[in-house]
Amino acid sequence: MQKKLTFVISGPSGVGKGTICKRLAEEVDGIALSVSCTTRHPRPLQDGGMEVNGVHYHFITPEAFSRMIEEGDFYEYAHVHDDFYGTSRSFVGKQKEEGNDVILEIDMQGALQVKAADPEAVLIYILPPSYEELEKRLIGRGSETPEKAKKRLHDAASQLGYAYAYDYVLVNDDLDQAVRAVENIINVSRLRTAEMKNVIDQIRQSFKEVL
Ligand code: ADP
Ligand code: 5GP
Repeated sequence: MQKKLTFVISGPSGVGKGTICKRLAEEVDGIALSVSCTTRHPRPLQDGGMEVNGVHYHFITPEAFSRMIEEGDFYEYAHVHDDFYGTSRSFVGKQKEEGNDVILEIDMQGALQVKAADPEAVLIYILPPSYEELEKRLIGRGSETPEKAKKRLHDAASQLGYAYAYDYVLVNDDLDQAVRAVENIINVSRLRTAEMKNVIDQIRQSFKEVL
C-alpha cells in the first residue's frame, strides 16, 4: 500500500478554503478532512443553520484545550484571530491507518509545525484574486460581526507573505478551477517516487523470476 499523505490548506479568512475542502471531500477518493478542536463558539452557516459540534469543529472550552496541550494530544495547534485551534493527533493517525490521505485546513503557524514534523506534507496556499474580492466574500458570508470581519481582513494583510513558505500557491478566482487545481496537486503528490516506493518494490518483485 502507498504511504498516506498530509495536505495542508491555508489562506486568509473568507478566501474559500472551507468551500474548496468540502468539494474535495465529495469529489476526490481517499481523502479525509480533519475536524479541528477550537475554543471559538459555533457560528451561523449560510443556509440559516449553525455549525455542528463534531462536524465543523469540536467546540471545546479553553480548559479542555489546555488539558489536550498538556497531554500531547495535538499534532499541531495555534492561537488564531482570538481563539485556539488544533488538530488531534489520533484523528490523523486513524484516518491514515484506514487508508486515507488527510487534509488539514489550518493556519500558517500550524502548517509550519506540520512541515517540521513531516517534511513530506504538502502545503497549499490559497490567495484571493484581490483585497476587494476577499472583503466581499467575508462580508457576504455574514458569519462574523463587522468588528470580527475587520480584524480578519487586517490579519489577512500580514498573513499573505507566508505564501512563500508553501509548496504550491493558487488563486481562488473561479471555484471549479481552484478545486481542480488542488485535485491535480493531490494526484501528482500521490505519484511522487517516495510515495510510490512500495508499488515499485511490489512490481519489481513480480519480475524476480527473470533476474
Ligand atoms: P474560508 O473557509 O477560507 O474562510 P469560505 O469557504 O467560508 O472561506 O468562503 C467564504 C465565502 O466565499 C463563502 O460565501 C463562499 O461561498 C464564497 N466563495 C468561495 N469561493 C468562491 C469563489 N471562487 N468565487 C466566489 N465566491 C466564493
Ligand atoms: P475559522 O474560525 O474561520 O473557522 O478559522 C479561523 C482560522 O483558523 C483559519 O485560518 C483556519 O484555517 C484556522 N484553523 C482552523 N482549524 C485549525 C487547526 O486545527 N489548527 C490551526 N493551526 N489552525 C486552524
